[in-house]
Amino acid sequence: MTTHIESEEHKALRSAVAALGKRYGREYLTRTIAEGKPLTELWSEAGKLGYLGVNLPEAYGGGGGGITELSIVLEELGAAGSPLLMLVVSPAICGTVISRFGTEDQKTRWLPALADGTRLMAFGITEPDAGSNSHRITTTARKDGTDWLLTGRKVFISGVDMADAVLIVGRTEDARTGRLKPCLFIVPTDAEGFQKHPIDMELNAAEKQFELVLDDVRLPADALVGDEDAGLLQLFAGLNPERIMTAAFAIGMGRYALSKAIEYARDRTVWKAPIGAHQAIAHPLAQAHIDLELARLMMQKAAHLYDAGDDIGAGEAANMAKYAAGEACVKAVDQAVHTLGGNGLTREFGLASLITAARVARIAPVSREMILNYVSHQTLGLPKSY
Ligand SMILES: Cc1cc2nc3c(=O)[nH]c(=O)nc-3n(C[C@H](O)[C@H](O)[C@H](O)COP(=O)(O)OP(=O)(O)OC[C@H]3O[C@@H](n4cnc5c(N)ncnc54)[C@H](O)[C@@H]3O)c2cc1C
Repeated sequence: MTTHIESEEHKALRSAVAALGKRYGREYLTRTIAEGKPLTELWSEAGKLGYLGVNLPEAYGGGGGGITELSIVLEELGAAGSPLLMLVVSPAICGTVISRFGTEDQKTRWLPALADGTRLMAFGITEPDAGSNSHRITTTARKDGTDWLLTGRKVFISGVDMADAVLIVGRTEDARTGRLKPCLFIVPTDAEGFQKHPIDMELNAAEKQFELVLDDVRLPADALVGDEDAGLLQLFAGLNPERIMTAAFAIGMGRYALSKAIEYARDRTVWKAPIGAHQAIAHPLAQAHIDLELARLMMQKAAHLYDAGDDIGAGEAANMAKYAAGEACVKAVDQAVHTLGGNGLTREFGLASLITAARVARIAPVSREMILNYVSHQTLGLPKSY
């Protein structure tokens, strides 16, 4: 009997997406960033081909797969040098939350458009005074008749300029303090009282981050997704895919950097043999490859558990996968840049900007330290310091 980590179908998806990624590649990303534009062409084509919605239900225009399939899409686009960060947010978080907890009306209104990429939804949980501690978020929804009035501030929200709406995590007025009892609201980006200000990031990426100011934004009753009382469960239904997808983002970027370094190390000769023959260059590249492969294995486990409906098991695995992938990506990029010597820092070879980009996977959506805290307390049962 032969067993497979990946089915024939998954392998076919992987190579089809890789072919699409190759057609766009790093040149497309670099050109589009220089023009200050979003990655619209790649996003639309991936949407038309059904890749953006592989995880969404078939009944609503999706591919009927899961996060397993969506993570393959993001990893392969990243490995080709043109990752679509908003895959982490629009189909993975927002699409998942709406398809699992939305009303029939919310599903028909949003899912087909998120699946074919004609509409995009950003996600906002981070606040200036809360950061890693989501229990401190203060964005508050107040009832006014059947409407909601939403007020608060969010920071580092990705892709708001490309988005039709933001799925905002807030809390209701009667659950304003204490342990987080979150509520999820679909907030249109053209709503009155909704302001977005770009944050000046030192990141070479097409997706921008924004500060949001919500000043009594009036929302209809059906802007609320799911149940006011089951918010935490609903939120985690979206946060686990986010972690798995961030792992896919990191693994794709790490693979891209590594492939460039390997190509260079095979040819570049300054003594008798190419530099790749020196073990001081070859071994760290081999280690980086092993680390990326190990991280992918954990990501596949997390995606498998999540798609099988095991939210609890997926939570631990998704955290570990995000940690492993973030670390593997940072190391792979660092070693790739080093392998190119001076060329590692030239614009022509385009690797140095990945040093900053790789750090994103170590910080967001949950930092390395918060994952180590989670494993210390939840998995190992050690006491808490905070
Ligand atoms: C490029 C980018 C895109 C992003 N996109 C989005 C988005 O679309 N939507 C969104 O909601 N958010 C987004 N974020 C925000 C991101 O999720 C946060 O930056 C992240 O959760 C960390 O929060 P913070 O930046 O406030 O850091 P802080 O919470 O202030 O942490 C700062 C440092 O302290 C450490 N630390 C904090 N508490 C502890 C502790 N108890 N023990 C040990 N160490 C600790 C952290 O690990 C970190 O190293 C994005 C961020 C970036 C950089």
